[in-house]
Amino acid sequence: MRITPSTHYQYERIKPDDDCMHEECGVFGIYMEDDVYDPAEAAYLGLYALQHRGQESAGIASVVKDDIRLYKGMGLCAEVFKNDLDRLYGGRIAIGHVRYSTTGDSQVLNAQPLVMSYRGGKMAIAHNGNLVNTDVLRKKLEEDGAIFQTTLDTEVMAYLLAKNAKDGMVESIKKMMEVVKGSYALVITTNDTLIGVRDPQGIRPLALGRLDDNFVLASESCAFDTIDAEFIRDVRPGEIVVINKDGFHSYQTSLSLDTALCIFEYVYFARPDSDIDGISVYRARENMGRRLAQAYPVEADLVGGVPDSATPAAVGYAEESGIPFKKALAKNRYVGRTFIQPKQSLRDRAVKLKLNAMKRNVHGKKIILIDDSIVRGTTSRKIVEMLRLAGAREVHMQISSPPVTCPCYFGIDTPSHDQLMGAKNSVEEMRKIIGADTLNFLTKEDLLKTVEGAGCNFCTGCFDGHYPVDIKKACAQTQKLDLTQVFK
Ligand code: AMP
Repeated sequence: MRITPSTHYQYERIKPDDDCMHEECGVFGIYMEDDVYDPAEAAYLGLYALQHRGQESAGIASVVKDDIRLYKGMGLCAEVFKNDLDRLYGGRIAIGHVRYSTTGDSQVLNAQPLVMSYRGGKMAIAHNGNLVNTDVLRKKLEEDGAIFQTTLDTEVMAYLLAKNAKDGMVESIKKMMEVVKGSYALVITTNDTLIGVRDPQGIRPLALGRLDDNFVLASESCAFDTIDAEFIRDVRPGEIVVINKDGFHSYQTSLSLDTALCIFEYVYFARPDSDIDGISVYRARENMGRRLAQAYPVEADLVGGVPDSATPAAVGYAEESGIPFKKALAKNRYVGRTFIQPKQSLRDRAVKLKLNAMKRNVHGKKIILIDDSIVRGTTSRKIVEMLRLAGAREVHMQISSPPVTCPCYFGIDTPSHDQLMGAKNSVEEMRKIIGADTLNFLTKEDLLKTVEGAGCNFCTGCFDGHYPVDIKKACAQTQKLDLTQVFK
């Protein structure tokens, strides 16, 4: 879900420190027929496992009797639910959300889930992803009298759902899916039904699990392990899954041949112990490292990875090359993601706060250092400097993805075009800026080979600017839509 102006052209105009438009989130939902867990407690544990997908706010909505109770706040799960989880106990269904944003609209109003009253009762909705035509939709709806309380595109979806609710929630979701464009993995609960929805191209992941006779939905399968649930399968692109007292039902809306799961989930974002669309995140990363080793062999004393996201790729590189894997950097576990700092000066400090060179391991050594991506280049520059100060003789940087050259409009936090190091510089220029002896990137072709066999195709927009939705066209089409006809 996103919170600021949304057309392609508005994005391009966003100023350097204004890179607040992108959101990353995690969603969770559970329907409990029996009493293995209280759903609110399961949601809490599930969100905890998805904390890497969002650290800014967390929320749980729980269906208790005929009511939906909501508790949400700013901060990590442990902080938000410190004293108040028990007020959500006693229900059958719970959904939850963790949100990560860089700056801007960081207020509890924009935290999720959103709870709304509509003609069918109450509903709560949690969204991971990013719509690209919300501004146009919002404006049209506002002209028609709609009032919005938040700046979230999620609220626009909730409004569209409520608008058409007379034909039942599934029909209403289908209609909404015809109108909204972009990425969305949704968990929704009404007073008696848990629903999961994945956008027609499957841009963001959504997994389905089972805990005895109870169903669970989560952005990533790692959340199931935390509550001893078993992974069943991924929700398919364009699929609506419905869980209530009548059991489990699936509705497949228009099948897109052009599926486009975000490849950055494998590169960086997802947890290594998750499987997404049939591919283990850990294995994919390990293979990225192996392919780097095949493509760019270097004579060195050790292979290190930038912890934690690049560790599997470094292990893969070490195994393939026969060069030992050694810790080159130690990570302070109590520092959140570097990007969370809104200003460059703070981001610079944050790298030092988060990572430190292992002096005794690197002194006098030729090092191959693997990182998963270069975005602004802040991290790599600082790390190379750190390793040199610690006495490293040579630093060969290898990146397990291609240079990030284009912003993401579909739910991964990347800064605007002019802040992306790979957008403005050749690899040689980047090497000079970060100060490494050599710098190499995995090619897009090699990256795609590491996820071969997945149940879908991939969005590689951040590496090549080919996006799964033509944003301009989607906005123009939405502009022409007569919503009163769609939602008759
Ligand atoms: P940078 O310093 O801007 O080049 O950031 C690159 C580093 O940030 C890499 O070490 C990645 O592990 C990490 N990273 C990549 N993408 C993201 C993201 N969307 N949010 C937070 N961290 C990221």
